[in-house]
Amino acid sequence: MKPIPLIINGQMVPSQSEQTIPVTNPANGEVIAQVPCATDDEMNQAIAAAKAAFEEWRNVPVPQRARLMMRYQALLKEHHDELAELISKEAGKTFDDAKGDVWRGIEVVEQAMNVPSSMMGETVENVARGIDTYSMTQPLGVCAGITPFNFPAMIPLWMFPLAIACGNSFILKPSEQDPLTPMRLAELFKEAGAPDGLLNVVHGSAHQVDHILNHEDIQAVSFVGSVPVGQHIYKTATDNMKRAQCFAGAKNHSVIMPDANKDQVLNNLVGSSVGAAGQRCMAISVAVFVGESQEWIDELADKIGQVKPGLWDDKDAGFGPLISDKAKQRVLKLIQSGKEQGATCLVDGSEFSLPGYEKGNWVGPTVFKDVKTDMDIYREEIFGPVLCCVAVDTLEEAIELVNGNPYGNGTSIFTASGAAARKYQHEIDVGQVGINVPIPVPLPFFSFTGWKNSFFGDLHAYGKQAVRFYTETKTITSRWFEDDIPSGPNMTISLH
Ligand code: NAD
Repeated sequence: MKPIPLIINGQMVPSQSEQTIPVTNPANGEVIAQVPCATDDEMNQAIAAAKAAFEEWRNVPVPQRARLMMRYQALLKEHHDELAELISKEAGKTFDDAKGDVWRGIEVVEQAMNVPSSMMGETVENVARGIDTYSMTQPLGVCAGITPFNFPAMIPLWMFPLAIACGNSFILKPSEQDPLTPMRLAELFKEAGAPDGLLNVVHGSAHQVDHILNHEDIQAVSFVGSVPVGQHIYKTATDNMKRAQCFAGAKNHSVIMPDANKDQVLNNLVGSSVGAAGQRCMAISVAVFVGESQEWIDELADKIGQVKPGLWDDKDAGFGPLISDKAKQRVLKLIQSGKEQGATCLVDGSEFSLPGYEKGNWVGPTVFKDVKTDMDIYREEIFGPVLCCVAVDTLEEAIELVNGNPYGNGTSIFTASGAAARKYQHEIDVGQVGINVPIPVPLPFFSFTGWKNSFFGDLHAYGKQAVRFYTETKTITSRWFEDDIPSGPNMTISLH
């Protein structure tokens, strides 16, 4: 099996590296591809190609850059099902869920199509007599993106289309666990008419990422992945004077008030907890039942227990396998720790296996109650189909619990009370809040605004914040004389 190529300067380049990483079908453990670990020389070639492409691209008129995104959006829609199938085969997602992965990426490309208005600066006429000040946004240069396995289409699409629409060139280092989808995204980008060198794809893992972080020609780094890697990338990139935005792990709580609509709560919690096998950074992994709502926990567990894991093309499957055997072993260990540390396991998916696919990374839906904050299943991000149920007496206690958690990606509250929702929205230290909406992922005209240990940086992904992340602001103060040219020097710093 030949390793998948790198994409350097618009060409598919076979890597000279002898080091490869196998890509497996998570449903049966079969090796479906090999990813090369790009050599330092190949990394330098990719960065040099991006640098050269930037010098041309920065001068391409903004509407022309937007039109590239329009053609790309049309191609992505045309290939929507093909991309979703690729995701299903390398990441294990059910077909409908994989289609969502592609679609939420297309929505960001749609934002990139509007880049001319997003890049507009500001103007004030007559800041002093006859003097005007205006600002404009200009691209940074070569930007890089390092992406995780769990959204192989959406997350690369959070990054390179906007960066490139803003006038930058890009180096993408996709997850080594499912690189085939990002490769197809890059091929389609070329087909849409992207000039050579604008988007380069390099493969590998920690060593290749460190090469990016230490290379003087990279101006900005976008990362999505786990907390320790995010912290390392943020520290190293900023130490090397680069811009960085690092989206990291999560532990998302949903608070259920006793006045909430029970059916809505239970149905919403099923999908948001074990959907995608819990491998979503916005999955609900902790349900906090307030007061009498804790009587619903057993019914919720029944509903979650009925969800069947299965193959990507099985229409009755609620979710697929975990990405790797390593991920499965980690989740099984955490489930075991929950039992040993005193939580009550209402539904136990640790023995689940799909007949005929025993080598796949299957874990069934799992629900714990009586979970306490010092247990490992509460403290750690499980990233599996496991829901922890916690009971408290009041909304104030629920807020204290959520705010005491080090993560701050997303949260939701289910209630019929506007006052309770308003209090929660105001007091909660989490960056994305759903009110009767379980997974509040904002559409791309807003930004994806995780807080605390779920995000290191200041400017977030997509929306206006991403345009600011991928551009510099230049502020110009100008005076044009008619006939009253002042005589003599002005020795103050005032404009007049
Ligand atoms: P990961 O951190 O293992 O890998 C992410 C990327 O970092 C990959 O491209 C990988 O090759 C690279 N990498 C791995 N080890 C590295 C190292 N030591 N040095 C430099 N680079 C390294 O994450 P993952 O398992 O692919 O993804 C799952 C994680 O991503 C979860 O924690 C999840 O919560 C998080 N995530 C967060 C968001 C968000 O928006 N906050 C979105 C999706 C996923």
